[in-house]
Amino acid sequence: MLIKIDVNKNYILKTGLVIDGGQCCIINAGRIFIEDGLIAAITPGNDTSFRFTDPSRELVCLDLGELTVLPPLVDCHVHLALDGKDFAAARRRWEQPIEMARQVQSELADTLGHGILAVRDGGDRAGIGLYFREQVVTGSMVGPVIRSPGFALRKPGTYGSFLGRGVEMDQLSETLDQLVQNGVNLVKVIVSGVVSFKEYGRVGPVQYTATELNAIVQGAHARGLPIMAHASSDAAVRLALEAGVDTVEHGYFLSRESLQQMAARGSAWIPTVIPVAARLNCRAEDGGPDRPERLVLERTVDRQLAMINEAVSLGVTLGVGTDAGASGVRHGSGYLEELALYRRAGLAPAEIIRCATLNGARILGLDWGVIKPGRPAALIAVAGNPLDDIAALETAQNMLSY
Ligand SMILES: [Zn+2]
Repeated sequence: MLIKIDVNKNYILKTGLVIDGGQCCIINAGRIFIEDGLIAAITPGNDTSFRFTDPSRELVCLDLGELTVLPPLVDCHVHLALDGKDFAAARRRWEQPIEMARQVQSELADTLGHGILAVRDGGDRAGIGLYFREQVVTGSMVGPVIRSPGFALRKPGTYGSFLGRGVEMDQLSETLDQLVQNGVNLVKVIVSGVVSFKEYGRVGPVQYTATELNAIVQGAHARGLPIMAHASSDAAVRLALEAGVDTVEHGYFLSRESLQQMAARGSAWIPTVIPVAARLNCRAEDGGPDRPERLVLERTVDRQLAMINEAVSLGVTLGVGTDAGASGVRHGSGYLEELALYRRAGLAPAEIIRCATLNGARILGLDWGVIKPGRPAALIAVAGNPLDDIAALETAQNMLSY
């Protein structure tokens, strides 16, 4: 159930526990009062002394029983144009609007059904993500808040043909202007190829020189657009950081020095472990990895988890991103698998909740993640206490929306 908060109504939520995404702790709350779409007051226990500014408005009382309230989850990296089941079939649907709409509708429902109220798309050449963002904005479809780069930028003839068009450097300015005209929220750039599942540590080559990437980042920033960089090797991560990108996606095999640089520059990291780990769920007899490939995947996952742990200790801003739509990664449920991997990396549930809520909101430019008066009433509710067991987030069943 998705409850859309109506700015013309007053609300009283009777809650169980309330977890703030900023402090990552339980706050003393029994009731949350909402007016004008904002949290107006939080009172302990049965305290009902709060008075609405305009008491003549319709009052909606919601008793959430024992449910725990927390800020919405945010997925910082998805591909709405892909379903995570069958790449070729999804690509064929790009030419079939009715089939495509059905696919995306079900992806958006799965996303909301897992308490994920905002996603940032990683781009697709056909602009599918951007198109469906508009369907949600205009109310033709029900879905989370969507941030979209439209199509990604990449070097002609290199990796990423399904993500974006090849752009020659002399067309950069014109292309960025076109993206602005298309109404994108950000720019996505492909800095490297993809991680190999067959040979440990191998990643497709870096696509840009420092001068070229600097021009892309400066061009995006000059137009007021943040930039999300697909960078899968340490060399690509370094190049992206030096150019001043806002977020580094994937970052397999990045070094401690790169993490230090990330912390110093304030760039965020979206580690996307599940697209690698998901392949381990597939048995060899069903087309899954053979033993040598399995060993490569396991080592790659273990290294990424070790670096996630290190990133937290160095103060890097981590955003949770699934690359949903990539092979084996489903929209919605892939997020819980990614969080379970963060737990395996040794992060405390409180830290994971901060990454999943507040950090994600900041990366998407949303004023969510903190539950206190004056903030938007962007909330979800789950059974159990995710600070004790992060798996409680699986039960997101009742959403109080933005
Ligand atoms: Zn991606």
